[in-house]
Amino acid sequence: MPDFTSLRTLAEQTAQHAYAPYSNLRVGAALRATSGAVYAGCNVENASYSIGGCAERAAIAAAVQAEGAAFRLAAIAVAAFSDTGTPLPVSPCGACRQALIEFGIEAGVSFRQPDGSWVEVDVDALLPYRFILPAQ
Ligand SMILES: [Zn+2]
Repeated sequence: MPDFTSLRTLAEQTAQHAYAPYSNLRVGAALRATSGAVYAGCNVENASYSIGGCAERAAIAAAVQAEGAAFRLAAIAVAAFSDTGTPLPVSPCGACRQALIEFGIEAGVSFRQPDGSWVEVDVDALLPYRFILPAQ
């Protein structure tokens, strides 16, 4: 499993930048590309709820913007906090699990469990029956 120490710290820092006036759930994600570069993102909500965006996909967008189609995901850490700063156990949502797999089927994912400890899993374990576009 990759080293998540610095990614967890960056995810926690990035969560402080979240725009979350509706849910008050501040989420940060920090990922390491196979190139070694690190990218981060936070959730950005909107009054039209459904167009809000997740931290994980914001980090992916930053990575693709920098590296283009060659971007491959090695590891990602996700950190979430309440509006009072309490760490919360939040794993990537279903859409983000699909997005993570797109860029790294063997990537590692780390997030907090309910007891506050960090779990580390392969992204494949988070979404075993993922969508795969059939060959045409
Ligand atoms: Zn998500």
